[in-house]
Amino acid sequence: MRRRVFSGARPTGNQHLGNYLGAIQNYVKLQDEYQAIYCIVDIHALISLEDTGLLQGNIHNMTLDWLAAGLDPEKSILFVQSHVPEVMELHTLLSMVTPLSWLLRVPTFKEKVKVQPQNVNYGLVGYPVLMTADIVLYKAELVPVGEDQLPHLELAREIVRRFNNIFGDTFPEPQAKLTSLPLVLGLDGKEKMSKQLGNDIELALSEEETVARIMTAVTDPARRYRNDPGHPEICNIFRLHKYFNPSGTDDLANQCRSAKIGCVDCKQLLAGEINSTLRPFRQRRAELADNPKYVTEVLADGAERARRIARETLGEVKQNMGLL
Ligand code: ADP
Repeated sequence: MRRRVFSGARPTGNQHLGNYLGAIQNYVKLQDEYQAIYCIVDIHALISLEDTGLLQGNIHNMTLDWLAAGLDPEKSILFVQSHVPEVMELHTLLSMVTPLSWLLRVPTFKEKVKVQPQNVNYGLVGYPVLMTADIVLYKAELVPVGEDQLPHLELAREIVRRFNNIFGDTFPEPQAKLTSLPLVLGLDGKEKMSKQLGNDIELALSEEETVARIMTAVTDPARRYRNDPGHPEICNIFRLHKYFNPSGTDDLANQCRSAKIGCVDCKQLLAGEINSTLRPFRQRRAELADNPKYVTEVLADGAERARRIARETLGEVKQNMGLL
């Protein structure tokens, strides 16, 4: 059996640079080496998505983003979480071995309680258990994710260890796989780039929209006037330059420190670098968008393939737990 890799993302909208640099790049790389399984986790999205009427459109757009970024349905299984209902069964079974205290101390749970105090639902606290079920249903060994997901993954490993201790070796302990840029900051330069925080740059923007978005970015807060010397080491725009144009950054840092270049020009340069990097992606995405039937077929085929693996694992789990 080929070793498996699994990852998921919520269909909360189009994918952004944080998703791409923190996770999708690894999804693409790993599909050559592993049996890769990537899931659009629509049930997770219900935890905070107020307008569920957006879900189907978001799923479609995310699939376009993934395909355009290089995910190949011949190599990877791409599917929607709720199309493989076995995951909900496994979630219930795993919930029986997960102490509530473990879930209550998860940092993202505490944050969400603050963000949506009017809707602290059971799904919110159970999120990491469902995420564990997502991963272990496929016995995945590797999980490409951004740094923000590490606490969840650690918890998944604890749940697996506990399950294996009680019911015998059933699941491998999943390991996180980070990219070289595991935490991309948003345009505010403070928080992680995130759709919900409105500080993101969507991959599918037009070139003009990309320039306009980059122009809103916060740079070095100590640099108030054009002639002030800059501090590239604390500037988020510089951090992105390092990724998109690594060979030009020494020169750019010197120009910034000596105030030879201003933040507006520096942002223009970055927008140009991002646009040229994303040009092939955007072209492929536009072509794929012309054929919505193809996206539906990819997801239907993916669900069928995922379900075959899921049924097998669930049978083994039930046997080990004494249910069969
Ligand atoms: P989820 O809400 O299910 O985590 P997201 O859409 O937030 O889905 O993220 C999908 C993937 O992209 C996850 O692996 C996440 O860690 C990664 N990711 C999201 N935002 C960033 C970011 N700003 N920097 C690095 N990785 C990120």
